[in-house]
Amino acid sequence: MAYTYQCKDYPGNEACPGSFTAATEAEVMKHVELHGKAAHGEDRRKPALPSRRGILSLTNQARDRPVSAA
Ligand SMILES: [Zn+2]
Repeated sequence: MAYTYQCKDYPGNEACPGSFTAATEAEVMKHVELHGKAAHGEDRRKPALPSRRGILSLTNQARDRPVSAA
């Protein structure tokens, strides 16, 4: 099973084309952390990307809904 995180699914990041797929949730988190710093200039004091729990929620949503759902 693959885990996918699409940045645009996260509130406030709708314009971001970032999308990451990996075999494990832990690997997706690493990509998301790096992406957050590189693309959004985030630091640990101002987290704007989802938590680990948020990743699971988002990946579950992605799996359960059609691609075109808004
Ligand atoms: Zn992004």
